[in-house]
Amino acid sequence: MIKKQQGPALHKEVIPLKTCPVCKGRAVVSGVFHELDCLHCHASGWVRFDNGEALGLQDLVTQLGLNLRIACKQIDQRMSRVSMDVSDYYEQNNRRGAGGTNYTGD
Ligand SMILES: [Zn+2]
Repeated sequence: MIKKQQGPALHKEVIPLKTCPVCKGRAVVSGVFHELDCLHCHASGWVRFDNGEALGLQDLVTQLGLNLRIACKQIDQRMSRVSMDVSDYYEQNNRRGAGGTNYTGD
């Protein structure tokens, strides 16, 4: 007999995400003295696109990983068209901060 695999599905589905409306994708909210973890999105800055709810922590990690992979792929594709160093890209993004748009001017 072939052993049936128990547990999660073989293919993880990518759940569309959007920036958290509470922290505006910053993952933190401004407290009285300190920035606090955003409780709405588990301090990730992301929620489900369809219903705006936060994912469970385990799913969140998986989905962030999947979405990051997609994002990296898209960056790679852009990189092959634009002659720009990867470190330049990240420096630009960091200066603008999370949730900011990155306009490269091309
Ligand atoms: Zn949030």
